[in-house]
Amino acid sequence: MCPGIAVAPGVCDVGGEHGPVKPEAMEQAAKAIRRLQALLPACCLCCGQTGLGTLDLCAGCYRDLPRNRFPCRHCALPVPPGQPDCARCQRRPPPFRSLLAPWLYDEPLDGLIQGLKYHGQLPAGRVLGTILARQIGRTGAAADVLIPMPLHPRRLRERGFNQATEIARGIAAHRGIPLGDRCLRRVRETAPQSGLGRDERRRNMRGAFRAAPAVAGKRVALVDDVVTTGSSTEEAARVLLRAGAREVVAWTVARASLRG
Ligand SMILES: [Zn+2]
Ligand SMILES: [Zn+2]
Repeated sequence: MCPGIAVAPGVCDVGGEHGPVKPEAMEQAAKAIRRLQALLPACCLCCGQTGLGTLDLCAGCYRDLPRNRFPCRHCALPVPPGQPDCARCQRRPPPFRSLLAPWLYDEPLDGLIQGLKYHGQLPAGRVLGTILARQIGRTGAAADVLIPMPLHPRRLRERGFNQATEIARGIAAHRGIPLGDRCLRRVRETAPQSGLGRDERRRNMRGAFRAAPAVAGKRVALVDDVVTTGSSTEEAARVLLRAGAREVVAWTVARASLRG
């Protein structure tokens, strides 16, 4: 088994007898972990075998990632072969130009995403960002700025990091696109989207984001770990376009199936 550093500072005892951990301190610690991790030999985060080059994922596990073979050209929802759009997008295409989601939210990718999100395994963010960057390179897609899907500040304090930012860092490192992690803020907490219809989800997300004027004229790539209903991606795209963004695309690691 290879050595590894897997736990982010944000998931350690936030609060308690030492008081709350400041986001700046978490960010500093996360940077230190990233630097240390870069010095260790690549090791597969799924099975512990030697990684593929500098990637913490082995060739076998990379091959086993569940490909999204027939995605809707707008929202990446799996569609029957030969059908370009899903039924939802035929009725009403989303405001973003396209959504890239090369894989499905299934084994072993779901484990990597959950490890990052819920167990603070920051190296998983680097792996996910790297493999997504490779796919972006293959499609020839371009953007002026990478904007990670923001978390509400309260959620960010609880988690200590934003998983979308960790993935976006990996893309930035490989594609040379600047990270605009202050260009979009989540200003309102929203109720869970499960069980809501498409129009209800849209209403639920209304007013959740605020974009910085710096996005004006830019081709924006919104980065996220997994897209399920697409409602938050759609609302974020609307807000960015209203703020003057020239174009919005979404780059996500995985597409989950729709429920409800
Ligand atoms: Zn492996
Ligand atoms: Zn679609």
